[in-house]
Amino acid sequence: MKTRIKDNLASIEKRITAACAHSGRSRDEVQLLLATKTVDADRIKIAIEEGYPLIGENKVQELRDKYEGIGTDNCTRHFIGHLQTNKIKDILKYGVTCIESIDRISVVEKLQQLLERDNRTIDVLIQVNTSDEDSKFGVAPEAAIEFIKEVATYDRLHIKGLMTIGLFSAEEKLVRPCFKILKKVQQEAIALQLPNVEMKELSMGMSHDLEIAIEEGATIVRVGTAIFGERIYPDSYYWDEQKSIK
Ligand SMILES: *Cc1c(COP(=O)(O)O)cnc(C)c1O
Repeated sequence: MKTRIKDNLASIEKRITAACAHSGRSRDEVQLLLATKTVDADRIKIAIEEGYPLIGENKVQELRDKYEGIGTDNCTRHFIGHLQTNKIKDILKYGVTCIESIDRISVVEKLQQLLERDNRTIDVLIQVNTSDEDSKFGVAPEAAIEFIKEVATYDRLHIKGLMTIGLFSAEEKLVRPCFKILKKVQQEAIALQLPNVEMKELSMGMSHDLEIAIEEGATIVRVGTAIFGERIYPDSYYWDEQKSIK
């Protein structure tokens, strides 16, 4: 198990390094986020110990269940899953420093309220639906700038950039435009120089498309399968509220 994860990480590292070189970027401009849904704490710890301390969970329950097992000093936690208003207070309990999946004002309002109560702030990324698929969450690209302006008025949330899940396709010509859209929204937002908005981070690219994402400017790639192996649950379980598995 250990060697498998180490070998997989080594090959992901090679892919990231090659993609950076190919697009004239420095390797340290891109962080590898371990997408750890369904992966148990022991396996996650192997990857953290290999030098990859950024992890991302999709479900509050998994965040909670693995919290002790993984520990707190050795890693940074992002939340990358769909947000439900009634679960937000739990996300704040388990050491999440950045929520990458902000896509509705109802969630933003709730967050602001809880953060005020705790007298703290949190980093966020705005999730944009660049693939125009109903099954994916995120604000529409056309609505993104207005949404960013609105979120920026909530002072407990610090906007650090954007996140997207690209189209699932082996065809590069269908995937690349998704990442270009995210980059375009970023450039528009930067030009507006909004207070409380930094647009440094572009979280995009997964196991199958990280090279394309890096070429298009990703600063965070989120990789699960290529490190930890195939998952038993379909991704729709994580991405679609209507579906659930007992
Ligand atoms: C699962 C997941 C990933 C990683 O996907 P893989 O194809 O397993 O690399 C990235 N981002 C999000 C939001 C995810 O839910």
